[in-house]
Amino acid sequence: MSENVIVLGTGTGVRVNEREFSALVLRDACRCAKCVNVGTDQRLYDISDLPRHVTITYATCVGETLRVVFAPEGHEGEIPWRRLLARTEPRPKAALWCGDDRPHFARQTAEALEDPAVLKAWLHDFMRAGVAFATDVPCDDGEVARFGERFAFVRGTNYGRVFDVRAVANHDHLAYSDAGLLPHTDNPYRDPVPGVQLLHCLQAAAVGGETVLVDGFAAAEALRRENPEAFALLTNHSVLFRYHDSHCDIQARQALIACDDTGALRRVIYNNRAIQPLDLPDNICDAYLAAYRRFAVMLKDPQWRFGTILKPGDLMMFDNERLLHGRSAYDGAQYARHLQGCYVDRDAIESTARI
Ligand SMILES: [Zn+2]
Repeated sequence: MSENVIVLGTGTGVRVNEREFSALVLRDACRCAKCVNVGTDQRLYDISDLPRHVTITYATCVGETLRVVFAPEGHEGEIPWRRLLARTEPRPKAALWCGDDRPHFARQTAEALEDPAVLKAWLHDFMRAGVAFATDVPCDDGEVARFGERFAFVRGTNYGRVFDVRAVANHDHLAYSDAGLLPHTDNPYRDPVPGVQLLHCLQAAAVGGETVLVDGFAAAEALRRENPEAFALLTNHSVLFRYHDSHCDIQARQALIACDDTGALRRVIYNNRAIQPLDLPDNICDAYLAAYRRFAVMLKDPQWRFGTILKPGDLMMFDNERLLHGRSAYDGAQYARHLQGCYVDRDAIESTARI
């Protein structure tokens, strides 16, 4: 019997490390073979199958497992008590960074990443920093999607399964010009927003075309410290984003900053090109625009900026719900900077990193 676990009197509950768990909470946490499919951890019953009122007729602790008999069912439950103690976070804690103060940005050759252990470490570094680099990725058409499919699923969009980023004549999208782009997140008008983006450099510009990254989480935390009211406005209200051309009209409402139920940052969205005129209640608009403007000014502050030149064969994978990316202007005529990109789903990356 573990010294941390105290079985209280019949009917009341169990105390573990000074925390007390009721009969109902314990019944819900049962992981016995009748309650849970052992192979997949999937629950075999619905909460409505449980009695409304549950009591304990017998309880004991054997090592890591509480053995509890519940009334009125007479169910013999098995509860791994450690699982009761801590909230499970599916992803590692983000290591926030600003331009000069950065965690390790993973960088591996495509060949090294064929080793599952190297890939796993690379994916973990990606989840913490929000970005990871691969080098010596063959400069073949569509290679970016083949690379992403090693560990995730490619999400097709109206831009295709793989999209080309290069200067083209008569472009209807600023990304397909040689203009500089302010740091932004992609596709805020999409629901769900693409979680992760891969960009593969096939051809670098002769001049310019520096890739810029900003950790939106770090900037959002700075805003929360500096101006909690502005932070609250950006989390509590959503704004409309839109992209339309002759083939599509995609719209979604998003909050610029989203938190989870503990207040931890979950998503930052910023795209000055796709945001639409404000349509919030009249008494909020001015304060919202002031908060939005303050966040925009912060995001432009050079302290946050990390710049890098992608060379042919370089591939950058980044969290599109956290990091903003942009580029400096380049000479599209001289010889063509050509990147190929695709979006992959975050959950598949996290799954691969776990197994
Ligand atoms: Zn059970």
